This record gives sequence, structure tokens and C-alpha cells, in this order.
Amino acid sequence: MKTKLQIACMTVLVLVFMAAASQASPAHWTYEGDTGPEHWGELDEDYLACKNGTQQSPIDIKHSELTASDTIQPMEVHYGKTEANIQNNGYTIQVGLKDHQNYIVLDGTRFMLAQFHFHHPSEHQIDGQHADMELHFVHKSGDGKTAVLGVLIKKGAENKAFESIWSSMPATETEEAVELEDTVDPASMLPANLHSIRYSGSLTTPPCTEGVSWIVLDNPIEMSQAQIDQFAAIFPDNHRPVQPLGDRKAVSVEH
Ligand SMILES: [Zn+2]
Repeated sequence: MKTKLQIACMTVLVLVFMAAASQASPAHWTYEGDTGPEHWGELDEDYLACKNGTQQSPIDIKHSELTASDTIQPMEVHYGKTEANIQNNGYTIQVGLKDHQNYIVLDGTRFMLAQFHFHHPSEHQIDGQHADMELHFVHKSGDGKTAVLGVLIKKGAENKAFESIWSSMPATETEEAVELEDTVDPASMLPANLHSIRYSGSLTTPPCTEGVSWIVLDNPIEMSQAQIDQFAAIFPDNHRPVQPLGDRKAVSVEH
């Protein structure tokens, strides 16, 4: 039988554990106001890189300042039809992939596609200009490194590749991801020409972790105004402003 002292000790332990657990949950952040991008670094000590980092994303990609590389191998893209789920996580619409058949190969390292999501307007700028939207394909390597493939989206023709996602897009935050009825094909979401700009950057959301290999495609894809409007009605603005390039070099890679 447990003594009163033992029960009291256990109660204290449970309370300490609960306090630690609640402290461990990351601070809430937003895209505007007191918890907006300029304050992210002050909201949580885990977010310090947002303020103190020197290799942050996104950036303004200036063509006149790009270094051309003929030594970097073109990225290999191995994307195809796959089952997926969809979630409105309060910050974006995110499509999660269940299998591990989609991957890219970057400088000999394989990065598996884990999820893709959208920003409105674009996060990266090209020569000082935002695109209407930006699509981020987020990949992880076996040793935990992150590579993000960014595709700019401009207003134009309706894009059928996004039909199943757009017709299932949750307008409000969802606790869990919901299975998509149709498969998605990330390959159909890329432009024909995969000429890219590469640089070393960070996550564009807290905790703004650095060491992310960025590949931003030079050529945009299109979506109709109605498709852009549908996303914008849920997320009027979910972009982080561009960050200083500092002493980094962005490299242009032919495909
Ligand atoms: Zn993103």
C-alpha cells in the first residue's frame, strides 16, 4: 500500500511534469501585429534564429548578382502520383504524403518529399518583385537535413494539377489531416524548365532553423485568378518578408 507521502510525491512529480510539458509547447505566432514576423525572435527562446540568424529565408533573388555554376549537378526530380492528406494548420494549406516514393537528389544526397504547402503572396522575390503565390515542397534526407523546392505561382490559366487539393481545401483550421480522395501528382505542379537558383537558408516560419538547402525555380507555374482568390480568402497574407542575403551567394544552376 502506498503511504500518503508517496502519493504526495507522485502528485508533485505529475505537476512538475505537466508544467515542463506546457513550457515545451512552442509560442503562438502570426503573420501580423505583436506576434508577427518582426517579433518572432522574441516570442520563444527556440525562435532566436528568426532574429539572430545570418542565413535566413526568404530572400530577394537578384539576377544581376547571381553566380552561374557549371560544376553543380542539376537536381534530379523523382515525383509521381501519390496518395496524400490535407490540413489547414492555421498557417497554410499543407498536403502530406504517405509513401516515400517522391524524392529529389541534390549533390548526391536523396531527400524524400514529406509535404508541400502554399504562401500568398510569394515569400521569395525575383528582382524585387513578389509573385502571386509560392509553393514549397519540403524534403528530408536520411540524416535529418532539409531541402525545400520553391515554385513561384503567377496569375494565368487554370491549373488542373491543383483541382483535387483546391476542392478539398479546409477553410478553417483542422486538428488533423484529412485523406484526399484523389491522388496528387507533384510532377504535374512543376514548370517544364527546372532551371534553379540555389542558396543556403532557413525555414521561413518559426523556429527559422538554418541549414536548409533552397532550390527556387526560375520559371513560375500558373493558376487562375479564381484559384488564387480561393486560397487568398483563407490566407490573405501568409508570407515572411525577405531577409538580408549577407555574405551568402545565390547560385544559378542550368537544368
Ligand atoms: Zn513555406
